[in-house]
Amino acid sequence: MSGNDFRIEHRYLELPDSFYTRVQPSPLKDPKMVCFNHKLAEQMGFRADAESDWTGVGAGSELLEGMDPVAMKYTGHQFGVYNPELGDGRGLLLWETIGPDGRRWDWHLKGAGMTPYSRFGDGRAVLRSTIREYLCSEAMYGLGIPTTRALFMVSARDPVRRESIETAAALVRVAETHIRFGHFEFAAHHEGPETVKTLLEHVISLHFPHLINLPDDERYSRWFEEVVERTARTIADWQAVGFCHGVMNSDNMSIIGDTFDYGPYAFLDDFDAGYISNHTDQGGRYAYNRQPQVGFENCRYLATALLPVMEEDDVRRGLRRYEVAYNERFLQNMQDKLGLAIEDEADLSLIMDTFSMMHEHHVDYTAFFRALSNLHSHGHGPVRDLFVDRSVADQWLERYEERLLYETRAHDEREFAMRSVNPKYVLRNYLAQQVIQEAQNGDYEPMKALLKVLERPYDEQPENDAYAALPPDWGKHLNISCSS
Ligand code: AMP
Ligand code: MG
Ligand code: MG
Repeated sequence: MSGNDFRIEHRYLELPDSFYTRVQPSPLKDPKMVCFNHKLAEQMGFRADAESDWTGVGAGSELLEGMDPVAMKYTGHQFGVYNPELGDGRGLLLWETIGPDGRRWDWHLKGAGMTPYSRFGDGRAVLRSTIREYLCSEAMYGLGIPTTRALFMVSARDPVRRESIETAAALVRVAETHIRFGHFEFAAHHEGPETVKTLLEHVISLHFPHLINLPDDERYSRWFEEVVERTARTIADWQAVGFCHGVMNSDNMSIIGDTFDYGPYAFLDDFDAGYISNHTDQGGRYAYNRQPQVGFENCRYLATALLPVMEEDDVRRGLRRYEVAYNERFLQNMQDKLGLAIEDEADLSLIMDTFSMMHEHHVDYTAFFRALSNLHSHGHGPVRDLFVDRSVADQWLERYEERLLYETRAHDEREFAMRSVNPKYVLRNYLAQQVIQEAQNGDYEPMKALLKVLERPYDEQPENDAYAALPPDWGKHLNISCSS
């Protein structure tokens, strides 16, 4: 590894020691470096001339000088039930680095073996789920949605028992922070107000530095408003791209509003408002159309954890920011997707009717908006082709064209802007499934090719049109469960 241009810190260790346990990773057998994110490494301030230099770190058999791995302690609400036993059950925070641009990065090794918080788990991550996390982190980044990132992953030979025997892998996931709502729940429900304050000051000083100099009460209330708003906006962005997280437990909610902990997620193919991406979520608690509400409920869990150190009125005021921020961002996102730049009171009902229409007629979500982004250059055909009943498309298009008459931008100017918000390429489940199968046979080139496409989801990439294809029948209803 050469040319490191980052500073090493490990500020998490400044927190009270109830927030972590030092754990050494359990090495994986015969590890292989299978995917390395060189662009990200560059952003973080280093270059890996030989990827294999990092295999040992990924496998947990090697620590660099300054790495001091800890399993973080947090708790959280899982499917509405409080679980005090949580924490990093298979991941370790290795260290924090500060890049040349001053940005902070937590390095988290996921799949590193057992920790005191493993409960019934084996501390491992399987290849399939590690690839899924890698792919989606980078897909979300390409889409411009706040997310943790994937730095590199290794595969190994160690057998891991899930529904069947699979093989192990590990991911070095990086993010500005790995602190979750659940860290605050742990502090409030098990440690006491002073610890909540310590955690709050830590988070503010590292991740909300613009608030540092506000007076005490104002600092906390501004901070909480900001956390609530960031959460609401991230979820509004999910809704706009048709992303379903699948396990929105409060321990999977990042305190800075990143999309966090990719498991049984999905991008919608045919639009289905009640889509449940997590096979284990039988009640549909985390269905696509429930996500905005669940985001709010998670903010309420956070609010409860803050009550010991904040005025109740301030907490309430902060919570009220959720709906405002969500609605604002969601409306803006959808106006942008439809190419509507002129304010019109009727737009919200047009948007809601569009969702109902897509739901009723099972229209492919991504393809629909992309086709609309080329309506006047390519004609109505590509939109109509997405409907079984073309007359439904015609009716909708007539209403849409009428609405466009109020717009002042030229068609091509509007459509250019629309193509920058309506992705052509998203990480459809079947695409992920295909590259996982190839990887399980030892070929990672298809995964790398897919990653390259997803780096530029809004660009026309004529050579990659196949990646924009609608799912084949087998790829429409893949069961993705929590067990990863
Ligand atoms: P998740 O639903 O993936 O967010 O995981 C919830 C909790 O279970 C977290 O505390 C994880 O660290 C832990 N966990 C998940 N899978 C495993 C595993 N294979 N071994 C140990 N802990 C795990
Ligand atoms: Mg989790
Ligand atoms: Mg997880």
